[in-house]
Amino acid sequence: DGFIWLDGEMVPWREARVHVLTHTLHYGMGVFEGVRAYETADGPAIFRLQEHTDRLFRSAHIMQMKIPFTKEQVNQAQVDVVRENKLPHAYLRPMAFYGSEGMGLRASNLQVHLVVAAWEWPAYMSPEALELGIKVRTSSYTRHHVNIAMCKAKANGNYINSMLSLSEALSGGADEALLLDPEGYVAEGSGENIFIVRDGVIYTPDLTSCLDGITRKTLFTLAADQGYEVREKRITRDEVYIADEAFFTGTAAEITPIRELDGRIIGEGRRGPVTEKLQAIYFDLVRGKVPQ
Ligand code: PLP
Repeated sequence: DGFIWLDGEMVPWREARVHVLTHTLHYGMGVFEGVRAYETADGPAIFRLQEHTDRLFRSAHIMQMKIPFTKEQVNQAQVDVVRENKLPHAYLRPMAFYGSEGMGLRASNLQVHLVVAAWEWPAYMSPEALELGIKVRTSSYTRHHVNIAMCKAKANGNYINSMLSLSEALSGGADEALLLDPEGYVAEGSGENIFIVRDGVIYTPDLTSCLDGITRKTLFTLAADQGYEVREKRITRDEVYIADEAFFTGTAAEITPIRELDGRIIGEGRRGPVTEKLQAIYFDLVRGKVPQ
């Protein structure tokens, strides 16, 4: 129940439907965002709203999809959906997709639609993941900056690799996948950026082969405020094996410790002190307990 914002209108949840000939369903070209609203003393607050909207438009630009709304309208749609559904906290999903106006690969006769849905989604991985850390497995699928939808776009096509990676990880007894780039360097998780900590310094892959994560960027600021140095560099998978700590960042995953990669225990095999500290500050920030 509740409402979904679809092409400028609040539509009852069950009526927000598309036709079976929806173009994006057939060819997979679409762009989306994953956004969160947190419960704060002043009601629900959407964390980094403008950044998510900006990235949605950048993704659309890469995919040559023209979103028929302004950024202000897209921001407002997200605020309205949370309010209309009276959600204290929420996961939001804006998505631009091609409708059923045309088939075939020629984009000129296609119309771009925009939907914003929101629902309560408290724990993305598991309730224990944030505290105990997760087991990760390196994927046989890679993250590409040159083909599929290119990694700077949060585009539907990229999630085929993410889903195949995750499924491979889960069937191998792990909780999440780590994707490498075509050269074998660490890229990112199926839906998260990765960080490692070694001798008090925090490292993360540069943006060549991973999504420009909004949580990743937030972490840079938080870490700097705490006096940690964050370096962007190419990371190999064995550097993760011998790290003191490792963690994923993402809107859904928040800051999730990694306790094991490919059967190698990382550090003490549990959430490390740097991860724990950054996590605590992150939660204070998103819940409005410290100024943004
Ligand atoms: N990498 C991928 C492939 C993702 O899908 C996401 C999730 O949005 C991230 C990284 C993390 O990005 P953000 O922190 O903006 O949610």
